[in-house]
Amino acid sequence: MRVTVYAGSSVGNRPVFAQEAGRFAARLAQSGCDIVYGGGSVGLMGVVADAALAHGGKVIGVIPRSLVDAEVAHTSLSELHVVESMRERKAMMERLGDCFVALPGGIGTLEELFEVWASLVLGHHRKPVMLLNTEDYWNRLLSLAVKSANYGFMSVEESRSLIPVHSADEVLDVVARWSPPAPRWPAGPSSRPAPLPVD
Ligand code: AMP
Repeated sequence: MRVTVYAGSSVGNRPVFAQEAGRFAARLAQSGCDIVYGGGSVGLMGVVADAALAHGGKVIGVIPRSLVDAEVAHTSLSELHVVESMRERKAMMERLGDCFVALPGGIGTLEELFEVWASLVLGHHRKPVMLLNTEDYWNRLLSLAVKSANYGFMSVEESRSLIPVHSADEVLDVVARWSPPAPRWPAGPSSRPAPLPVD
């Protein structure tokens, strides 16, 4: 299985972020999973790549030409695809992965996560989207999804399609149990489920 990992180009300001990212990637590699990621050697992206490679994993990087220097493209990857744009990077990372996991990160990670989550909800792909919830990093986003469902802006099923995990083993469990949500507009907008009452 190929796991596409989105992660910060920074390591954050607590050692736990790099520790957990490294443990996560090492375990994925030991479980025989390949990793697809942004191709850089900086931040949690670099930690993920190094840990997986150190544990015998195959790591595939996808980096836009304009970021080869800024994100210090990793030079020891199993494969490095240099593409022409951010759009191409995201499309290739989406195509290559069998599932998606966002680690803690900043705007770039959020952007990638939202695109791949929205694509799932719209039925453009049928693969699970997960959050590695180190230090409860994603709790507010998960709460926002619940609130969005409560206020009738997404269905409960859509809000639950963003799945928190704490380990590589949980990723494997989620993939084994996965059944994709119904696409958002199966028979037109009138088929939307009624929103839940606001709490
Ligand atoms: P950040 O989470 O901001 O540290 O960024 C993490 C990764 O997301 C970096 O590799 C960024 O290059 C990447 N990134 C930022 N913006 C975009 C975008 N619009 N499309 C694809 N990747 C992006």
